Amino acid sequence: MTAHDSRSVLPPDYDLQREYRELEGRDGQTYLQFATQMTTFYKQTYGEHSRFFLALRAGRLIGATCPRCKQVAVPAFTWHCPGCDFAEMQEIELPHKGVLAHTAPITIFPSSTFIGDAPFARGYVDVAVDAPIASFLPSRLRTTTGLVRPGIFVQGLELKLVFEDETVGCARDIFWVPMSEVPLHLRDQQPLRASELDFASPVPPAVTVAPPHVAAFGEALAALRGLAADVALSRRARTDLAGQTSRMGVRTGGGDFTLVVAEGQLQVTDGVAAEVDAIVVAEDPSVFTRWVHDGSLTDAAVEGSLWLPHKEAFQLLPILDRLPRSTRRDLRSS
Ligand SMILES: [Zn+2]
Repeated sequence: MTAHDSRSVLPPDYDLQREYRELEGRDGQTYLQFATQMTTFYKQTYGEHSRFFLALRAGRLIGATCPRCKQVAVPAFTWHCPGCDFAEMQEIELPHKGVLAHTAPITIFPSSTFIGDAPFARGYVDVAVDAPIASFLPSRLRTTTGLVRPGIFVQGLELKLVFEDETVGCARDIFWVPMSEVPLHLRDQQPLRASELDFASPVPPAVTVAPPHVAAFGEALAALRGLAADVALSRRARTDLAGQTSRMGVRTGGGDFTLVVAEGQLQVTDGVAAEVDAIVVAEDPSVFTRWVHDGSLTDAAVEGSLWLPHKEAFQLLPILDRLPRSTRRDLRSS
């Protein structure tokens, strides 16, 4: 999936096509024009920002630097230094690496524009680390190690700049990944393209089999089988699962199982089945016991006690989270 898939949010007549094109200004300079469908139906240019986004489109990261005070503005939002009586600033080529300026928040419940993208992280990246004053570049942050979770994007983390394969001249043309996740031979490459990294098949974390987890595994399986039996008797739960099909292999520190969702039913089978849609990992199997007792798999994934390979696996969790409540409501009322 590219970052620029044009999701239709408006009836076709009102749905202005996304476009990015060059425009010659009255001053003879080149400006970048874009269309937006969110709040206005106007076409507009990036104005002075154009130079920055034209460079981005070409796989370059530039800033504006002041010859007097040496401050660096990135994105290059002005070409005249506000601190030096608006002295003309110069273009500076910035490195494709940086440092995370603060620990990044993770968005779980996004605004309607970004539904389907969550969870995602974004943060401010210090690119011009040697400059005496520099702005931080607000950017998307991605990891090749599965679903984004706490503990990855922490302050001070070294980052590598990555460009989407197709760049149009917008903020979503780029994102950053932890430098430690970039293979050595690609670390100095400029530009590094998204397709040169593997986001599709992250390696599941290893689990250590430990006696307390084995005991907890027995409890979790019993709780899950109880829930599966309740789902079969609950109209609400079957409605929750309507239209869903999923085979989720689950590895824990006490043993493995597969959670199957099909035809409005929940099934728990021993071991990880040969063909699964995703493998998820929970060192502590009681994550699942807590879920059955009105906990939340979504919370477990957000906190990091349940590891998921990608956001597609995440989409099923809010549906599964409804089941304990649905079964209790139905079975109590009957
Ligand atoms: Zn200055």
